[in-house]
Amino acid sequence: MIRRNILLNPGPATTTDTVKMAQIVPDICPREKEFVNVMREVEDGLLKIVHADSSEYAAVLFCGSGTINMDICLNSLLPDNKQILVINNGAYSSRAVEICEYYGLSHINLKFPPNEQPDMRIIEQTLREHPDIAIVYTTHNETGTGLLNPIREIGRLVHRYNAVFIVDTTSTYAMRPINVADDEIDFCMASAQKGIMAMTGLSFIIGRKAIIEASAEYPKRSYYCNLYMQYRYAQEHGEMHFTPPVQVIYSVRQALKEYFEEGEQNKWARHLRVFHAIKKGLKELGFKIYISDDNEAGLVVAALYPDDENWDFQKIHDYCYDKGFTIYPGKISGMGMFRLCALGAIDQEDIEAFFVVFREALALYNITVPVKYVE
Ligand SMILES: *Cc1c(COP(=O)(O)O)cnc(C)c1O
Repeated sequence: MIRRNILLNPGPATTTDTVKMAQIVPDICPREKEFVNVMREVEDGLLKIVHADSSEYAAVLFCGSGTINMDICLNSLLPDNKQILVINNGAYSSRAVEICEYYGLSHINLKFPPNEQPDMRIIEQTLREHPDIAIVYTTHNETGTGLLNPIREIGRLVHRYNAVFIVDTTSTYAMRPINVADDEIDFCMASAQKGIMAMTGLSFIIGRKAIIEASAEYPKRSYYCNLYMQYRYAQEHGEMHFTPPVQVIYSVRQALKEYFEEGEQNKWARHLRVFHAIKKGLKELGFKIYISDDNEAGLVVAALYPDDENWDFQKIHDYCYDKGFTIYPGKISGMGMFRLCALGAIDQEDIEAFFVVFREALALYNITVPVKYVE
């Protein structure tokens, strides 16, 4: 028996016991054909989740957390004398800007307010004025707030200006349905511990083969984190270039099996059910939600700290944590917020059980309910 914790943090997610146990396998050298076959099965499943045609797209696997994908896409896909446009309305696109700064990549940090969708006219104007933009980068669901970016509209614009569109889909992949062709995505990415509900340690980029192949000629800015090198090795040998996270890959294989058993639409309906249960519970307690209904991605709820002198996030967190529920602080500096997320192998009843515990915590620490805000 493994204790079942309900993780409402933005990843890693609650997993099924069958996924946890899938890691317990006989020791195997990852260079064996038996393991190469597991890798192929995983790559096929990862492509299928976003309806990517394997003649046009490849799934390239890396050992690392999700940020490795961002690093790799940005450092590997920029031709000489070109620049990157980052459409930035949150913490994760800001991280992409930081990566550009660390590598000294020429870029434009196009900032928009963190609680609104970006202004398409400004994006278009920027593309028009800077014909040297080769890459446009944005985040599908800004996990810090739960803001949805309109990737299909942005992608259409990006392609009209002949740039490559990279989307950080780490917090939507395998949850909110994505179709790489319809959504105009050239590159997207995620990690095993988020939407597919497997273990931490494997990340993957799904991208257009023709663009990866063209990048063979681009400046090399990293050795370990180079997309073309990893892609070419996998094409030739069916393996990762260096040691893969073997046991995690077995958990991913099981998680993919469970993903396809549940089905894209059913799974998305379940995440939405969880999301709405979270919003309902918070609203009943009077909490203000940071992102408006028409801008939300349906997976993360960021609630503002109430103006109550007894409010202490850490104490509430600790009370809930002891009862098996993990809640998470917010990510906008200068604003007191906490987040409850709808990813993972959980359903509406888990959220109802959570709110019983959360209410107990509010009562224990004498926080007035419904919570109060000074206007
Ligand atoms: C989780 C996440 C990442 C990756 O974060 P790691 O801590 O490196 O796993 C990247 N982008 C988004 C949008 C995320 O939600």
